[in-house]
Amino acid sequence: MSSFRYPLEDIKERVDLVEIVSQHVALRKSGRRLIGLCPFHNEKTPSFHVDPDRQLWKCFGCGEGGDVFSFVCKYENITFSEAVEQLARKAGVTIEKTERAAREYTEKERILRANNIACAFFRSMLAKSEKQRNISPGAD
Ligand code: ZN
Repeated sequence: MSSFRYPLEDIKERVDLVEIVSQHVALRKSGRRLIGLCPFHNEKTPSFHVDPDRQLWKCFGCGEGGDVFSFVCKYENITFSEAVEQLARKAGVTIEKTERAAREYTEKERILRANNIACAFFRSMLAKSEKQRNISPGAD
């Protein structure tokens, strides 16, 4: 597994999901949440919810949901890593890559693009590497 990881938390601290979503979806307040028409499926009544406190979004119409990264990823139809880099630029967070990591990243990117399953796959890879980091090195 690559040792390269994105500073996701740093980026999350600096970008606001509501602000990002608002650029594409007209949101209105509904209690503690904001709701709007889902950009990922056709609907007439809003079932797209944004939770500003938890920085999460969820559509109760089509079941899509996630955080700021997955929103940009899906909305812009770009890979998870591209979404992270786009938001990192916006947040002013520098992503440092070692040469090896950058190579693996490029290779991964190429394969993912080819398969057109970038978002979910790359995300699960990241989640897995996070998990491995949290358990013990080499544990399977
Ligand atoms: Zn939806």
